[in-house]
Amino acid sequence: MSKILEEVLAANQRYADNFGDKGELGLPPARSFAILTCMDARLDPAQYAGLAEGDAHVIRNAGGRASDDAIRSLVISYKLLGTREWFVIHHTDCGMELFDNETMGELLASSLETASVDENGWHDSKAGGGSVEGKYINWLTFKDNAQSVIEDVQRIRNSPLVPDNIPIYGYIYDCRTGRLVEVPKASVAAA
Ligand SMILES: [Zn+2]
Repeated sequence: MSKILEEVLAANQRYADNFGDKGELGLPPARSFAILTCMDARLDPAQYAGLAEGDAHVIRNAGGRASDDAIRSLVISYKLLGTREWFVIHHTDCGMELFDNETMGELLASSLETASVDENGWHDSKAGGGSVEGKYINWLTFKDNAQSVIEDVQRIRNSPLVPDNIPIYGYIYDCRTGRLVEVPKASVAAA
């Protein structure tokens, strides 16, 4: 068994042993809100936003972007499960600022091995066996963190499936301090 698999299963055993009354939790989030945020390993929404099991929906993807699939989840979140306030939370030092569609397409076309990065940019192992399929995907990268929050809040706000009365808050999580910093223009965009 892989070391990670072993560790995860052992941790789960300890968790389940102390599960308490969490088996009684209802399906709809008890605090009726949702967070869209990045998958970055340094971000723990339960910690930075004070969530317990059953409290809120957390939708995560690379960048915390308002992709079609993120919007699909948000719409289910309010329409079927009653959330009434949403957060879009990107963060400092996001990996999505470090590449663009063209770079990713080229790296994947070259090989499927993990690429490396240094001050000269991304490098592929040139092991071969890549696929051009990556050139057909919009990887939703960005260069300006605040701007990406504004765009995502706007995209969600402008969806014909999102009702006007759901507030959408735009924030950037600071990886150095753990603080959430508001993107004021995103809040305006959401109004
Ligand atoms: Zn990120």
